[in-house]
Amino acid sequence: MVKIALNLTAEVENIVELYTSPEYEWNLKLRCTSCNEADDKWHAINPDEEVQGKGGPGSFNFQMKCKFCSNVSTIDIVKDSIRHITAKENGMIENQTIAVFDCRGVEPVAFDPQSDWIAKSEGGYTFESVDFGDDENGDAWFGYDDLAKVSVSVADLKGSFERV
Ligand SMILES: [Zn+2]
Repeated sequence: MVKIALNLTAEVENIVELYTSPEYEWNLKLRCTSCNEADDKWHAINPDEEVQGKGGPGSFNFQMKCKFCSNVSTIDIVKDSIRHITAKENGMIENQTIAVFDCRGVEPVAFDPQSDWIAKSEGGYTFESVDFGDDENGDAWFGYDDLAKVSVSVADLKGSFERV
């Protein structure tokens, strides 16, 4: 098994903290490590999901049978690995780990942040249900902090993967 961290990079305006809601599902594109083929579909990985393993003991957050080579692979989100990420004073989030995935037979190759994020502004306001929208609009979110009377945003949110 291989542990793979999802690292985020973004440019923020008047936002100090970014994290996922308890209902959040991690949307990933996956590559089979047995035949090296990448599946074109997005898969939602839910840390509360328990899928019974095929042909083996235990349960997993996610299980997939490769449509090319039929290899069965699984993913678990490492317990307590989901973190809040904080912006630096220069308004950057630079390659910060937000979650770690325990991958068997498969590796994530793309991440789509989608919705169900929570952002805290510099003025102390909490924005619930931050939505990064679909791919066509780019992964950005714009809001307005009514208390501090400033615009807030998280722009150019990008995920990358790293073996840990
Ligand atoms: Zn395969």
